[in-house]
Amino acid sequence: MSDGSERLHLPVLEAPVRRRHPEWIRATLPSKPAYFEVRNMVRELKLNTVCESASCPNIGECWTRRALTIMILGDICTRSCRFCDVPTGRPLPADPDEPRRVAEMLGRLSLEHTVITCVDRDDLPDFGAAHWAETIRRVKEACPQMTLEILAGDFKGKTEHVDIVLDADPDVFAHNLETVPRLSRQVRVQASYPRSYKILEHARKRDAVTKTGLMLGLGETREEVEAVLTELAGLGVDIVTLGQYLAPSKSHLPIERYVHPTEFAELEQFALAAGITHVVAGPLVRSSYHADGQAALVRDLRAAKGLAPIS
Ligand code: SF4
Repeated sequence: MSDGSERLHLPVLEAPVRRRHPEWIRATLPSKPAYFEVRNMVRELKLNTVCESASCPNIGECWTRRALTIMILGDICTRSCRFCDVPTGRPLPADPDEPRRVAEMLGRLSLEHTVITCVDRDDLPDFGAAHWAETIRRVKEACPQMTLEILAGDFKGKTEHVDIVLDADPDVFAHNLETVPRLSRQVRVQASYPRSYKILEHARKRDAVTKTGLMLGLGETREEVEAVLTELAGLGVDIVTLGQYLAPSKSHLPIERYVHPTEFAELEQFALAAGITHVVAGPLVRSSYHADGQAALVRDLRAAKGLAPIS
């Protein structure tokens, strides 16, 4: 039965063969008032979102539910990951008023759960850690009942900066591995799998609720994905997302393969059987996709770790 939403096929931009995405990859057209309400608020408060900056195909669906992922520390990234549509360059200084505006926006939206992410700021001495901490504190003050997930970079592996962020007590600490070890350098030029693993390991040692995500369709094998999932289960990572890589343009890495929804379902079962508590897998899954429905899960995970309850 139709839910009344209009749907469209996404344009395929990747080189060298022009082809349409398979029929299971569809986006919802932004048409409902809530979408425009969110967009107007983002503009009014001069905020950035990864939904727009990364050309996320889910923006119509998510913003219609008032679910968005605010991106802090500007809209220019110091890295040049080959899957990502966020512009690379020399960013402006961090805006000291941005944490207040983020808190104001989230206070107005009255959400149960939200995700905030950032561009990588390798130009800053602390890679943006203090700005992160101030944003978390402001948001928790403005929205004491909301669960807050942060999707952070790797802080170049410097755990003292990760600690500054963790000390502000985000309810979920997420950092994406993005791909399997063999492809990591090719996909994330200035990052590495071991460094990202170390960040997750450090957050686990601090008893944070942890989350990571992988994109599929970049050339990885099923065995490589299963090996990563087994490793993550052993590490005790709480939440894992698996989604299809979609090339934002011809100049990004090409799509090597479309993973069928059945394979996503099998990998989800594999990860759950391996011991990961919560797995979200599917062609349009992104690390923040449907995270807005995870407030109860996050409260339970915090309680299981003996972390302070959310008021
Ligand atoms: S999946 Fe995440 S990034 Fe994409 S539109 Fe939804 S909230 Fe934004």
